[in-house]
Amino acid sequence: MIDTHSHIYSEEFDTDRAETIQRAKEAGITHIILPNVDSETLPQMLALEAEYPDYCHAAIGLHPTSVKENYREELALIKSELERRSWIAVGEIGIDLYWDKTFIKEQIIAFRQQIEWALEYKLPVIIHVRDSFNETMEALQPYKNSGLNGVFHSFTGGIEEAHEIIDFGGFLLGINGIVTFKNSGLATVVEQIALKHILLETDSPYLTPAPHRGKRNESAYTQLVAKKLSEVYNCPQEYIDEQTTKNAFSLFSGLSK
Ligand SMILES: [Zn+2]
Repeated sequence: MIDTHSHIYSEEFDTDRAETIQRAKEAGITHIILPNVDSETLPQMLALEAEYPDYCHAAIGLHPTSVKENYREELALIKSELERRSWIAVGEIGIDLYWDKTFIKEQIIAFRQQIEWALEYKLPVIIHVRDSFNETMEALQPYKNSGLNGVFHSFTGGIEEAHEIIDFGGFLLGINGIVTFKNSGLATVVEQIALKHILLETDSPYLTPAPHRGKRNESAYTQLVAKKLSEVYNCPQEYIDEQTTKNAFSLFSGLSK
């Protein structure tokens, strides 16, 4: 299994990061993808990746909640990092209108700029959408059939939204602990979507799956998401593991390098 979205470099893991990675390995997680947030998270993320170079794979991007007055400097850093070395993806990027709408215009500018760079550097994108599905799809429209691909991380929409993403082409849906929450309704959406469109993720330290809901999330719990999907699709968990791993390898081609 691959945890395609984890912020395990964050301070929540400062006291037991090595043990956390050990638990992930024991749970059958073979790779962890680390999405960046902004210039402040970058050093920690790079340090973790340097410590586990074949296990942790860093993506580079400016998160929509970090798009503020200084977004141009933040974007300049992303661009110079893209020039400097290779990355697994551009992310996480997107539009978040849940926390703050002040910088909506700038969020859209930053999102589009980073999509352009993803195309330029031939990288998939990791998209964060919160209370912004229509705005996100609108921003993506010019890139339909452009070769752009990626994942809608932490997908929580309905079946129409899932179809809209799949019909757009090139995008997978990242499913995490939310699918284990009874009140989310996500399981009934996911069961109508073919497994070839699904990626496993945790979004740790957030969105901890049942039965650990409310505690810190970690990559080992990817297996709880896979277990839930095996119930949803009524198939062995090994099949979920194999298929979603295949999906992750085909999207994130840097994993096999
Ligand atoms: Zn994230």
